[in-house]
Amino acid sequence: MIDRDALLEKYRIERDKRLRPDGNAQYVRAATHFPQMLGDPYTPRQERAPVTDHVRFAMVGAGFAGLCTGARLAQAGITDFRLIDAGGDVGGTWYWNRYPGAQCDTASIIYMPLLEETGHIPTEKYAHAPEIQGQARKIAQTFNLYEKALFHTQVTSCTWDETASRWVIETDRGDRFTADFVGVGTGPLNVPKLPGIPGIDRFKGHQFHTSRWDYEYTGGSAEGAPMDKLAGKRVAIIGTGATAVQCVPHLARDSGHLFVFQRTPSSVDVRANEPIDPEWFKSIATPGWQTRWLENFAGNVGMGGASEDWVKDGWTDLSRRIRSRVMSLPPSEWNPVNMMKAWEMADHEKMEEIRNRAMTVVEDRKTGEALQAWYRQLCKRPCFHDAYLQAFNRPSVTLVDTDGQGVSRIDETGIWVGDAHYEVDCIIHSTGFEVGTPTEQRAGFDPVGKGGQKLSEAWEAGMRTLHGLNSVGFPNLFLVQFAQAAAFVVNVPHNWMETGTSIAAIVRHMTDHGLSTLEPDPEAQEAWVKLLLNNPGMMTNNPDCTPGYYNNEGQPMDERAKYAVGYPAGPNAFFSYMKGWRSSGEFKGLRFG
Ligand code: NDP
Repeated sequence: MIDRDALLEKYRIERDKRLRPDGNAQYVRAATHFPQMLGDPYTPRQERAPVTDHVRFAMVGAGFAGLCTGARLAQAGITDFRLIDAGGDVGGTWYWNRYPGAQCDTASIIYMPLLEETGHIPTEKYAHAPEIQGQARKIAQTFNLYEKALFHTQVTSCTWDETASRWVIETDRGDRFTADFVGVGTGPLNVPKLPGIPGIDRFKGHQFHTSRWDYEYTGGSAEGAPMDKLAGKRVAIIGTGATAVQCVPHLARDSGHLFVFQRTPSSVDVRANEPIDPEWFKSIATPGWQTRWLENFAGNVGMGGASEDWVKDGWTDLSRRIRSRVMSLPPSEWNPVNMMKAWEMADHEKMEEIRNRAMTVVEDRKTGEALQAWYRQLCKRPCFHDAYLQAFNRPSVTLVDTDGQGVSRIDETGIWVGDAHYEVDCIIHSTGFEVGTPTEQRAGFDPVGKGGQKLSEAWEAGMRTLHGLNSVGFPNLFLVQFAQAAAFVVNVPHNWMETGTSIAAIVRHMTDHGLSTLEPDPEAQEAWVKLLLNNPGMMTNNPDCTPGYYNNEGQPMDERAKYAVGYPAGPNAFFSYMKGWRSSGEFKGLRFG
């Protein structure tokens, strides 16, 4: 029997230990403090002449957002398309994140987009990064998206030319080209951040961020070859989030000695990965299968109330457990207070199970205790792994638990936690990505629309869009992101496939009718934003939670954060609404010129 009050008190104590007044300011921008850590270790940069042509559609970002947009446009017959990306190939987050053990946390058959279109059959329930990046390349090849693509290219400005009714795009490679339409799909977690630990710049050994894995230094490969150069080396990893949970088992296997510096433990539930049987796959892969599976998944995790769970991954398990707890209430007790309590109890039970798992798997009692997560499951990104906790049973692995305080300082030879010094050869920063910093800082440019107004200025009082896709004052600009749209964060690529279909329908319509500009009607935009603000909001913005990027590091949210909401009736309802909206052919709320 769970003692709710005692548990909540323990959660509060653990959270309070971690609260710090500097919040997000505790991190430093790798771009300004350690630009050398942001180089591309994977692909050599090719010299090329600046590009000065015109394209129908320019897409900033060649991750799944850009690829799905390009694919849907190609399906609609719009092929004059250019991808622009700072990376050396397509893939976005899967281009950069090649750390050992990287894999998707959502089942591959719904996480990997456009499987039906490319014919790829995922090999595992949770595919590893090389296969996911392979799917990104396959999408680009299938839809001929490489032809005009510009890689290792950072967009520096994007300005609406009112006279010519087109966008002018400039880049750090000296390009200056124009486009009738621009799509922006730069992703939410694209800029690595580093902890502002005193002395971090004094370290004389080797250091890198997990999203720029230095296989030159470690040996091995993203495909899983052992990191032979780490034998005999003392390796430190700072951070124990979703990335560290996946790469620690590999570092544990290959390092002379591994020190894992922990501030807050992750909740690590069972992974149960397994190969996908191609015969089984064939049995489900009838025409339209991926859309049906996507909808089934969204119906399980996002307010859809799907009766069956086909995907059966960690996320559907989590949602169905909560829902069945809530639904087990007698109808006479259905009210918001009781429902929240039922949800809370389901959460407490699951977290007890996960904490017990740490104690069962980890042989050393003190280490097992230190790996127990004391917060509600959705306070931080839930993790799933069957080798992470086990790694701490190796004599060559030391968990350095900082009791919520983090690393104290770094010097020439290693890491300090309080009075203890750990001498190491290498420090790997598994410290995540910028969240809550200005969008234009993360994207590297700030679109300039009608009348010379910047997007950041137009949104000074909060984001304003129609369908999360277009914004008044920024003609022919498509925002490929999920706020003010489905806000479906559990299976992000589902958003991109749907958004791509809407963009393609709009551009096709304009092409067929000789229309050159589009912009939301200001009243329609206001009505949309008003409708969305009725959304109760994500519970993860909870100040009771342990600090992290989900809740602005425990600091009060900026007023403007409330605009980052989703469609009140949930993702499937949004996707279905948009399907009706675009197939009516009226595109209500948009003004064409
Ligand atoms: P996170 O931001 O989740 O984790 C950063 C880690 O660094 C935390 O454990 C944090 O501790 C720790 N840290 C920060 N500063 C210090 C310090 N001074 N001393 C010690 N520790 C410190 O980054 P990740 O890269 O792990 O994950 C980011 C996101 O990327 C995930 O939430 C997920 O959305 C996505 N991701 C998805 C994957 C997938 O789907 N397969 C795999 C990996 C990542 P604290 O918690 O106390 O702040």
